[in-house]
Amino acid sequence: MAEQRLIVISNRIPTEEEPSGGLVVALHDCLNARGGIWIGSSGGPVEQPRAGLTKIAEGNYTRYTFDLSREEYDTYYLGYSNAVLWPVFHRRADLMQVRPGYAQGYLDVNARVADMVAEFAGPDDTLWVQDYHFLPLAAMLRERGVQSRIGFFLHIPFPEASHVPALPDAQNICSWVASYDVFGLQTEADVERCENLFRHECPSFIESDGTISVAGRRCRPMACPIGIDAEGYRATAEKSKVGKRLFMHKGQKLVLGVDRLDYSKGLVQRFEGFGAYLGRRSNTDEPATLLQVAPPSRQDVDAYKDMRMQLDLTAGSINGDYGEIDWTPIRYVRRSLPRDELAGLYRRADAVMVTPLADGMNLVAKEFVAAQDPEDPGVLILSHFAGAAEQLTDALLVNPYDADEMAAALERALTMPLEERKARHARLWENVRDEDVDWWTGRFLGALCQPRAVEAA
Ligand code: UDP
Repeated sequence: MAEQRLIVISNRIPTEEEPSGGLVVALHDCLNARGGIWIGSSGGPVEQPRAGLTKIAEGNYTRYTFDLSREEYDTYYLGYSNAVLWPVFHRRADLMQVRPGYAQGYLDVNARVADMVAEFAGPDDTLWVQDYHFLPLAAMLRERGVQSRIGFFLHIPFPEASHVPALPDAQNICSWVASYDVFGLQTEADVERCENLFRHECPSFIESDGTISVAGRRCRPMACPIGIDAEGYRATAEKSKVGKRLFMHKGQKLVLGVDRLDYSKGLVQRFEGFGAYLGRRSNTDEPATLLQVAPPSRQDVDAYKDMRMQLDLTAGSINGDYGEIDWTPIRYVRRSLPRDELAGLYRRADAVMVTPLADGMNLVAKEFVAAQDPEDPGVLILSHFAGAAEQLTDALLVNPYDADEMAAALERALTMPLEERKARHARLWENVRDEDVDWWTGRFLGALCQPRAVEAA
């Protein structure tokens, strides 16, 4: 019998010997145990791109990269992936930039990767494609005669059917999705949106178990919420000393925010919510400080520059209105912190505000839970619009568009009795620990590797 390899395809691939970061470590461990291949872009852009794949590491599994030219990087990565798909999938079609060449660049890179993968994928291999950069890959692989099982995991939200027509080449989305055997999504709500799209836009049949039949192919959309290395994260937080290094007045509460600088994270609305909280408190209360860690991302996309400016203005205005000579209400750190420092900050925080307007999962919410001291835990304030809200129902769930509601949640979090904090945290931790990242890979690959219904019949 031919060797059954796992082949993972993602835009990013770890380049170091021992990778770090939740998802990357999970896939690394999974490939290490099973053997196989990981293919991803070398980052980019590359002035003189090499043709084909370059082997960058070999051990229990092999890593290959492909280079992106300047034009490919601008059209496939910054363009169609991040200035078209990202905003539409995050319910912000108004921020989409449709430029000539974006859609073609996306299709061309996917076709190039399909050519390379088709060359060595055997019928017994299992392919696992990661995220929105490669939606058309299975359809293109099928055109090239690849019969292997192909799974996909979408890390970001699935779009509303009514938003999809805003996409250039929208008519192709259903056939892209239907070419996968298993289409993994973060939440049940995503699965519903996916089924809805097929119901409205594509002649298809949805079976009672949710399998979608389209033109002779069967695809199973499946909710498979991604987890973190919960025990590992807890251990890192226990060891981290950063909380002690943080300067705060005695008795002062710390509210934390940790997000890439992205319009989907609702940072402006969060600052306004914090401003509303400051406006409510009486002068005798010790004011809380909001520490927002926000590493910049995708600086070359216009919508990111605009929101960064808006955020600077909002923080400046709130600090001007409420600050004292010895206290700055919002501390805003626009750079990335290493994992162990972050883990220590989570543990030190009295509350965290995870208030995206749309988010596939949001790992910060799970990391915060894992990092807490169970005997004196902080409180998770979580947006209804984070994928994590489906699992972490013991958080204080808020509407991120409503500044007063966020202010009330902050007040409640910062005055919550110890017993309630402990009880909520214990239930949150149970979920974060049980549905961790190994659970996620096992659940997805378990579904993908099941005998196909047609074969089983
Ligand atoms: N993160 C980090 N340093 C920072 C800020 C964030 O390492 O300064 C990590 C954070 O711990 C988390 C990830 O970045 O693991 C963010 O993942 P999430 O799902 O919350 O959001 P995304 O950025 O993927 O949209």
